[in-house]
Amino acid sequence: MSGRRILVTSALPYANGPIHLGHLVEYIQTDIWVRFQKMRGHECHYVCADDTHGTPIMLRAEKEGITPEQLIAREHVEHSRDFAGFHVAFDNFYTTHSAETRFFADDIYTKLKATGLIYPRSIEQFYDPVKQMFLPDRYIKGECPKCGAADQYGDSCEACGAAYAPTELKNPRSAVSGATPVLKASEHWFFKLSDPRCQAFLREYTQREGKHGTVLQNEAANKMQEWLGVPGENKLTDWDISRDAPYFGFEIPDAPGKFYYVWLDAPIGYMGSFKNFCDKRDIDFGAFWKPDSDAELYHFIGKDILYFHALFWPAELEHAGYRTPTRIFAHGFLTVGGLKMSKSRGTFITAHSYLEQGLNPEWLRYYFAAKLNGTLEDIDLNLDDFVARVNSDLVGKYINIASRCAGFIAKRCGGKMADLSVKDAPAATDFALFQASIKECQERVAQAYEERDFSRALREIMAFADQANKYVNDHKPWELAKQEGKQAELHAVCSLALSLFKWLTAMLAPVLPRLAESAALFLNLPGLRWTDSCSPLPAGHAVKEYQHLMQRIEAQQVTALIEANRVSLEPAAPSPQRHAQHQQSSEDKQQQPSEWEPFIGIDDFSKIDLRVARIVKAEHVEGAEKLLKLTLDLGSETRTVFAGIKSAYDPATLAGRLTVMVANLTPRKMKFGLSEGMVLAASSPDGGSGIFLLAPDSGAQPGMRVK
Ligand SMILES: [Zn+2]
Repeated sequence: MSGRRILVTSALPYANGPIHLGHLVEYIQTDIWVRFQKMRGHECHYVCADDTHGTPIMLRAEKEGITPEQLIAREHVEHSRDFAGFHVAFDNFYTTHSAETRFFADDIYTKLKATGLIYPRSIEQFYDPVKQMFLPDRYIKGECPKCGAADQYGDSCEACGAAYAPTELKNPRSAVSGATPVLKASEHWFFKLSDPRCQAFLREYTQREGKHGTVLQNEAANKMQEWLGVPGENKLTDWDISRDAPYFGFEIPDAPGKFYYVWLDAPIGYMGSFKNFCDKRDIDFGAFWKPDSDAELYHFIGKDILYFHALFWPAELEHAGYRTPTRIFAHGFLTVGGLKMSKSRGTFITAHSYLEQGLNPEWLRYYFAAKLNGTLEDIDLNLDDFVARVNSDLVGKYINIASRCAGFIAKRCGGKMADLSVKDAPAATDFALFQASIKECQERVAQAYEERDFSRALREIMAFADQANKYVNDHKPWELAKQEGKQAELHAVCSLALSLFKWLTAMLAPVLPRLAESAALFLNLPGLRWTDSCSPLPAGHAVKEYQHLMQRIEAQQVTALIEANRVSLEPAAPSPQRHAQHQQSSEDKQQQPSEWEPFIGIDDFSKIDLRVARIVKAEHVEGAEKLLKLTLDLGSETRTVFAGIKSAYDPATLAGRLTVMVANLTPRKMKFGLSEGMVLAASSPDGGSGIFLLAPDSGAQPGMRVK
C-alpha cells in the first residue's frame, strides 16, 4: 500500500478572470483526493499553474494599458488568494510564462519535429488590416451562412447551431477593430495527429487498462472512439500549433514571428510547474517523467477539455519520449439550482465573494464532495439543499457528538479518557463492537475516496456518525451525570464517544482539513493519519478544552451571497470571448457570459412573424407520445401544427381557444405529417412544472400580428 509515488494536476486556470464556484468543483475535488493520498502515507505532489498565454490576455492587457506580464502577475496573486481561501493546497502553483515551461515546450517541439510529426503548411486566414493581426475565429463576427442570424462568431452559430469556417460568414467584421477582415496567407506549424503512428498509439492508449484502472472513464473512452473513428478510418486532423505575431507566448526557436499556440504550452505547464517544484525540493523530475516511470500521473480536468488531454497531449508526450498520463479524470460542470450559472440571477459566484460574505469554505467543500461521484455528470448546487445538508450532517451529526460529551470529560472526569479495554468495564462491549465496525467502515471509505466517489465516502461516514449519535442518545450522559454511582459509566460513555468522534474526524479530514485540524487540537493529537486512525484515544489521554467547532449556515447568508453576485443587465456588446463554463475551452478563455447573451437587435426580432391563431380542432396523434395535432385558423388561411403539449392538455378543452403562433417558420416534415408553424408555450427548463400555452387578451382576432 505504501510506496506509491503520485503526481497530480488540476487544469490550469486562465489568467484572465476570477476563480468562481464552477472552477472550484475541480480544485476542491483534486485537493480532497490529494489530501487522502497524503494521509495514506504516499508520496503525492499536487501542482498547477496559471495559464498565461494567448490573444485574450494580450488584448485585455492592452485594453487596461498594462503589459501582459503585469496582468498575469495580478491574476496570480488573486488566484493564489482564492485557492488558499478554499484550502486548495497545491504543492506548487506556478505560471506557464516561465523558463521551465519554455524549456519543455522547445524540447517537445524539437523532438516531435525530428520524428517528422511537425511540418509547416501555408494557410489563409482572416487578418485585421487596422489592428494588423490575424484574427482567431472567435474574434470574427458576421451573419450565419446557414440561417442568416446576425452577430454570430466565426466558428459556429448560436441561433441554428451550424458549424462553419470563418470565411463562410456573411459580412464578416473584426471584433477587435470593427474593420472588414481580409484573407491573408501565412505559414503555420502543424502537429501531424493524422500520422499512422499517432493513430495506432491513440487507439491503444484511449482503451488502455493499467494496474490502477482504465486511462479514461467509460464515457470519455467512448467519446474518443467517436473522434478516432472505426479502425481503418482516419478521422483525426492535424493540429495547428502556431500563431503569428503579435501574440503573447513563446516564440518558436526556428521560426521567427511564430509563437506556440496557447493550447500547446498549457499542458506543458504541468511539467514546468513540477520542474520548478523539483528544483526547490531536490526531487528527481526524470523519475516521474521518463517513459518507463513507475510513478503515477493523474490529470483532473473538465469534460470540455478532454480532446486536448486525451488526444493531443498523450500523443505529444509519447512521441517526444516522455511518459503518458496514468489516468485522466474528467468531471462535469456546475449548475446552480439546475441552471447554468448566471450573472443576472446572481449564481455566477466568485470564490472571492463567497469568502468575503463570510461563508465558511468548508461548507462548500463538504457539499461538493457530497455530490461528486467520479463520473462526467454535471453537479448541481441546490442552495436550499446546501443549507440543509451542511447543518444536518456537519453540525447536527458530526460536531454534535463532541459537543455533547466534551463538557462532562472536562468537568467531571479531569479532562482524561477512561480505560475502555478493561474487561467488564462499562462500555467495554460497545467499544469492542465499534472497533470491529470502524475498520470495515474505513476500508469502504478509503475505497470510495480512491475511486473519487466522494459522495459514497460521505454516505458511509454519515452512517457511522448516525450509529455514534445513537450510542450517545441511548446512553444519555446528561442523565448519567445527574445519577448517583454512575460516574464510571459516564466517563466510559463520554470517552467512547470522543473516540468515535476521532475516527469520524480522520475520515472527514480530506474534505474538511481546517475543521479536522481544530478537532485534532481539541483532542490533543499531533495530526491524523489514515493508517493510525483506527486506534481509540488511549486511557488517561488528556483532551483540551472544547471550543465550538463549526457554525450553522443561516439561509440569509446564502441570500446575501446571491444578491452580492447579481449583476444588473447591461445590453452592451458581448465580449468576443465567452463560453468556457470551465477554465479553458478554446482559443478564447473567459468567464461565463450572462444567460441573455447574445443579445439580438430589433431587426432580428422582427424577422419572426408572430400571429394570433384560433385553435379550430385539437386531436390525438396515433403513435405520438407527446404531440397533439392542432388545426389553426390564421384569419386568411388554415394551418396544421404538431405541438408537444399532450402531457398538459386534453384536446377537447382546446378547441375555440386563441393562442400565438410563429407563422413564418419553415414547414417541417414529421413522421405524422407536415407541421406548418409552431405555437408558443411556457415551461420550466426541465419541463417539470408543466406546459402553459400562451393566449392573447380577449378581443384579439386570428391573424393579428404580435409585436
Ligand atoms: Zn445560423
